[in-house]
Amino acid sequence: MRISYSSLETYRNCPLKYRYKEIDKLKEPKSKEAVFGTLVHSTMKFIYDPALIPPTIEQALDHFSRGWNSEIWENELEERAAFSQGIEMIQKYYRSNDPREATIVALESNFSLEISDPLHPRETHTIRGIIDRIDKTEDGYEIIDYKTSKKMPSQDFVDNNLQLSIYLKAFLTRYPKEVENIANITVSLYFLKHGVKLSSTRTLEDLQEVDNLFLEVIGLIEAGEFDAHVSPLCDWCGFQKVCPMWKHKFKEERKIDSTEINRAIEDYIATKRELTLQKLRVMKLQETIMNYMDQEDVERVFGGDGIVERAKRISYKYDPEKIRSFLEPMEKWESVLKLDPTALKRTLASFPKDMQKEIDSASKIIDKESTSLKVKKGGMSTEEDGGLE
Ligand code: SF4
Repeated sequence: MRISYSSLETYRNCPLKYRYKEIDKLKEPKSKEAVFGTLVHSTMKFIYDPALIPPTIEQALDHFSRGWNSEIWENELEERAAFSQGIEMIQKYYRSNDPREATIVALESNFSLEISDPLHPRETHTIRGIIDRIDKTEDGYEIIDYKTSKKMPSQDFVDNNLQLSIYLKAFLTRYPKEVENIANITVSLYFLKHGVKLSSTRTLEDLQEVDNLFLEVIGLIEAGEFDAHVSPLCDWCGFQKVCPMWKHKFKEERKIDSTEINRAIEDYIATKRELTLQKLRVMKLQETIMNYMDQEDVERVFGGDGIVERAKRISYKYDPEKIRSFLEPMEKWESVLKLDPTALKRTLASFPKDMQKEIDSASKIIDKESTSLKVKKGGMSTEEDGGLE
């Protein structure tokens, strides 16, 4: 199978989006964030273009301004904010970097990385992608990917970032002698909005993990697993109008408030909210009454409409060793043993990741499938209702 790194990332973020793009070949309109990101990347390439004398900040800003596309923004305010954000990114970049100091090895360099499946040695898969920049450093190399995102992740994110590991693997395929020097090859994400570069290194064992992760994703794609994965990234997804998790939001009749289904949905949400409030109210009242009973040393209290009585509920369990001593001699012990899912989960988590995967794929089966309704406030889940099996 041939897959680009961006498609691989799409699958990991939302398998259904991958299906729309790569299998159903639906066209996704380019988001303004993507257009903005492409222009910033082109400016970064311009700054380091080996065919040019390193441009001054004014020349870099001019390159950015000339590539600006006014048509994609919803209004002037939004456009102005995005434009000054781009200008600020470049200014910030020049404040902490002198383009004349870098020794560029490659810019926007295409790669194609082959990964073979140990279980099916004849099958080879290929990941394609583009590495933003590779620099020669004093004792090794640095692989850099630029990010224009607003969010600044943690160092842990960079240490475990799959994209950087794939880029490093691709680099080592191109320069196999550098495998021995892997400790001196830095992988970095440069967050241009924040003007911060986070760097990390990888070991050969880390890179082996890439193969496993990649093969796992390929296995899921080949098995036809394309579940929708709702996340904040849905806000930037161009398939909301066809996606089953969102398309109802855009239905014309939804806006007309009188259809039976609209009334049912509104009623359901309101009733669920009322039930939650009532549950909270009952808990509060119970606490007040119990406190009163303790204070007055009574077990029953009388209201105009009935009596409230304190009921003690005791549940019993068997002492495992004692019950075993009875059942084992009668050869009945095995028949009452059952898996303890919590203990099993804990035990499996203590095994190496490879072994966990092997056990999972050999022995995990669907126990029960059910469908339930959740009420969400905006995008966030609040309550879940009993399901349909
Ligand atoms: S809208 Fe969200 S859930 Fe639906 S396909 Fe896009 S990313 Fe996936």
